Amino acid sequence: MDHAGRRDRLRAVAGGAGLDAVLVTNLLNVRYLTGFTGSNGALLLRADSDDVFGTDGRYTTQAGVQVPDLELLVDRSTVSALATRAAHLGTGRLGYESHDVTVDGLHALERVLGEAAGGGAVPELVSIRRAVETLRAIKDGDEVEALRRACTVADRALAELAAEGALRPGRTELDVGRELDARMLQLGAEAPSFETIVATGANSAVPHHRPDATVLRDGDLLKLDFGATVDGYHSDMTRTLVLGHATDWQQEVYALVAASQAAGRAALAVGAEVAAVDAAARDVIVAAGHGEHFTHGLGHGVGLEIHEAPGISALGAGTLAAGMAVTVEPGVYLPGHGGVRIEDTLIVADGEPELLTLTSKELLVL
Ligand code: ZN
Ligand code: ZN
Repeated sequence: MDHAGRRDRLRAVAGGAGLDAVLVTNLLNVRYLTGFTGSNGALLLRADSDDVFGTDGRYTTQAGVQVPDLELLVDRSTVSALATRAAHLGTGRLGYESHDVTVDGLHALERVLGEAAGGGAVPELVSIRRAVETLRAIKDGDEVEALRRACTVADRALAELAAEGALRPGRTELDVGRELDARMLQLGAEAPSFETIVATGANSAVPHHRPDATVLRDGDLLKLDFGATVDGYHSDMTRTLVLGHATDWQQEVYALVAASQAAGRAALAVGAEVAAVDAAARDVIVAAGHGEHFTHGLGHGVGLEIHEAPGISALGAGTLAAGMAVTVEPGVYLPGHGGVRIEDTLIVADGEPELLTLTSKELLVL
């Protein structure tokens, strides 16, 4: 992964904002910019000089392997030590991640900077807001490759369980969820992307139902929302199946959600407003009289987090750009009855988006 290139992109943002340095404390942002995967690390990124990576003594060896290209500062009070360094370097305007620092943390930073300045000019703290998250929204080639592999693991896990007859009446939601998770681990996932959703019968009408002891029954819908994490990158896919045979209403709702999902995918284009993408999919469901049964946004970005920028919803702002990894996941939920959601992970591109979750979207009757 091109961590130096990412740091240079943040450096350009910092320079444009008139910052002399940026203190990056969000751990995933630190990972994105340095490759460090431990539980404590921070980065002092400098506008026109060498960067400093900080961690504590537990991670000295790991930092040497994962972040060999940066000066290493080892201190139990990692963030304070980096702030002290910034002050000693004569930093005038110091960027920080206001969404990551607590109120107590901010007070501590102000105190440390004042002490380190020793009566001289105290560095001015300036929020960079979500500058790193904004960079993270556009994936580079290595990130797309990790997402591809994560999606492939999920595709294969579902295909294997379906072929083995693991999704059948008499089993419980918990049985199926545990087997999906175990199969993804066998196929190379570091972990499931999130708590796997297995929802059958009336439970399928609950968008984020937690799997329980409910038994799969003939004629019921079975909604599976799951993903694999590979190299820190998350896949996200939902498929809804039917056990035994599909009734007319199940087929109708499925066809409606599939049409909505196709419209949403077709609207994924460079420069498209996220609210317009949501509308493209939502209008199909509203026109069929089910608007009130589609109770969430259309999709979200995926990457080092399962939910990250950009959000794709009616209230969302901003436009899509090439290289964004997003989900498209409309649903129709009929309370007490059942629900259908279909979700893919895709990469926005000039021309057609690249579909990463390749499991068929034909209604599968098992
Ligand atoms: Zn999902
Ligand atoms: Zn999702």
